[in-house]
Amino acid sequence: MKTGEVVRAWMRVLLGFTPSLSIEITRECPLSCPGCYAYGDDHLGGPLLRQVRDFKGQDLVEGVLRLVKTHRPLHVSIVGGEPLVRFRELSILLPLLSKQGIYTQVVTSAVRPIPKEWRDIPKLSVVVSIDGLQPEHDARRKPATYERILKHIEGQQIKVHCTITRQMTSREGYLREFVQLWSSRPQVVKIWMSLFTPQVGERSYEILPPLARQAVIEELSVLQGEFAKLELPKGLLDVYRRPPTSPEHCTFARTTRSVTADLQRRILPCQFGGKPDCSQCGCIASAGLEAVARHVLPLGIRMGPIFEGSYRIGQFVDRIRRRASARRRPETAPAVGGDAWNLPPASTTPPQ
Ligand code: SF4
Ligand code: SF4
Repeated sequence: MKTGEVVRAWMRVLLGFTPSLSIEITRECPLSCPGCYAYGDDHLGGPLLRQVRDFKGQDLVEGVLRLVKTHRPLHVSIVGGEPLVRFRELSILLPLLSKQGIYTQVVTSAVRPIPKEWRDIPKLSVVVSIDGLQPEHDARRKPATYERILKHIEGQQIKVHCTITRQMTSREGYLREFVQLWSSRPQVVKIWMSLFTPQVGERSYEILPPLARQAVIEELSVLQGEFAKLELPKGLLDVYRRPPTSPEHCTFARTTRSVTADLQRRILPCQFGGKPDCSQCGCIASAGLEAVARHVLPLGIRMGPIFEGSYRIGQFVDRIRRRASARRRPETAPAVGGDAWNLPPASTTPPQ
């Protein structure tokens, strides 16, 4: 994060807004990846993702713009389901978000071609999920196979995002081979590596046992010194070593509003939904923000307490704003962004 972005995000927090918005743009996905949290039973704490209402066409475009107008994020993450299922709507939305000065990232499996015109949209990043080398990836993520990805990223500038699972730790040199392979591709500008984050009590094979997790982090810290495209600063790896203890202590959960495909229901406590096991969190977005919060400025000034104070002021400002708004429109039911889905205060346990 650049200093200017940190300052802008900080101002948003002070004004009681959440700087980041994450939207599950559709409930549809042609893949069925093992360990996918979006289609997990507890993801939304009620209906399954495939059961919620979702939007198409003009309704979707207008719905997203309304959300953005209400919450005024600096950063919007478009996730799924599979966002490319709604590529027509996104081709209208993405330039509009860019014109508003919003940084947007679309996280996709690249199961279908990425529209060529997206390449020239300022402030847009396309992040392609590639989970391991071809045999493991293709087994997990067909029909979004290596063959299709290579075809669909032609002429694009993408970021590769890999979620490391236990399957990738059985052979020495596996991660190096992966980073080497994707570093050599001219279409790839950055490589991000997350660690699989389970739900509390989950027993799936994807989970990295503690020793394997430790070994992976140590290997990543070596690789990041060798491969320029691998973006894993030391502070971020330190958060993988010592993740936030709970959602109440997670900077990402408190500064990101995650919304599902009906554009109303919040995903709590963070984008994983359900009961994520923070002690095993390996989400790169969460670790990146936490690293900023743990940063120590010159003279030993810690960012964490500054954020904590700003967050509380922001919550106070937000309460005043909402009361004033309710007085102006007493008969109006909460619309998108109303009371029903504001962030819980830091001291309470978020609804599960
Ligand atoms: S592509 Fe994403 S949303 Fe679709 S099944 Fe895989 S992990 Fe889940
Ligand atoms: S699982 Fe990770 S992102 Fe979610 S609340 Fe816990 S630490 Fe934060």
